[in-house]
Amino acid sequence: MSKRVMVRDVAVGGGAPVSIQSMTNVDSRDEKGLIEQIARLKDAGCEIIRIAVPDQESLDVFGSIRNKTDMPLVADIHFDYRLAIGSIKAGADKIRINPGNIGSPERVKAVVDVAKEHGIPIRVGVNSGSLEKDIVAKNNGVTAEGLAESALRNLKLIEDMGYDDLVVSIKSSNVAMNYQAHQIAAAKTEHPFHIGITEAGTVRRGKVKSAAGVGALLLSGIGDTIRVSLTADPCEEVYFAKEILEAIGLRKSKFDIVSCPTCGRTRIDLESLASDVENRLAAMDDLPEGLKIAVMGCVVNGPGEAAEADYGACGGDGKGVIIAQGKVIKTVDEKDIADELIKTIREGK
Ligand code: SF4
Repeated sequence: MSKRVMVRDVAVGGGAPVSIQSMTNVDSRDEKGLIEQIARLKDAGCEIIRIAVPDQESLDVFGSIRNKTDMPLVADIHFDYRLAIGSIKAGADKIRINPGNIGSPERVKAVVDVAKEHGIPIRVGVNSGSLEKDIVAKNNGVTAEGLAESALRNLKLIEDMGYDDLVVSIKSSNVAMNYQAHQIAAAKTEHPFHIGITEAGTVRRGKVKSAAGVGALLLSGIGDTIRVSLTADPCEEVYFAKEILEAIGLRKSKFDIVSCPTCGRTRIDLESLASDVENRLAAMDDLPEGLKIAVMGCVVNGPGEAAEADYGACGGDGKGVIIAQGKVIKTVDEKDIADELIKTIREGK
């Protein structure tokens, strides 16, 4: 099990639930825009929020919003160690640095000393796009071994400075390389992992890469906090991160819909029916948690899937049957399937 660090009131590692984080993408000098986006991210279910702090003006804004939100805030720093120190003093709950681009071990030590003084964790991030030159040369390019070596080297640099309140992240947009690098590094460190597929891309491709990359790592037991990276509104990252955690059973979903892909036997408009039922269930505030609902096209697999679900509907020729706890309770016209299924769920039959 990984070690545990605290990011304000959110535990990361040591068996704590996998937390969801995202990063603001409004201008870091825009205080009003940041406050608004932080509120939206919080409503979406984000638990840790990272903010880029690229200059003094952004640092001033960071300090100001620190006093206006209780959300755990991570300051993301590149190049300038003074901004890292300033962010910690301004109330950052964690900082993210890449020791390789901070300038010198002395400057890294100056940051570490202030983090230690304030008792906040440091996320040590390595990225395939900014791997140390000697590691790239040694491995004849960017490799999983090189990424892991860089992460472990940077962790050791800070450990040797007497600090181990650390989170490690290894980022590559190559899903397989990302996976292998984590396997190598995780075998050699107990620090908690921040995982994600960096620069995963637009919503459609980014979701697939993230589901594959983050899902595979979590199922192999690696990953304590996740960030889905999408070229989109950051709230989309949070919604999708939640869906990944629900899909692999690390979070309870409000409900689960099982529906078939349809085929030449289908005699009802199952696509419309399934999305209608899904939308109506999502809008129900009083739905018992964790219900499984099957919406199936015909009797080939329908009754079997519905029997394993709490409730189900199974299509026929212009008709459908409603099933509750494995028993057929009524046959209805196709146009009434959704209404009758929802009514049955509401009545808790
Ligand atoms: Fe086709 Fe029926 Fe299977 Fe759906 S449940 S895919 S309609 S055979």
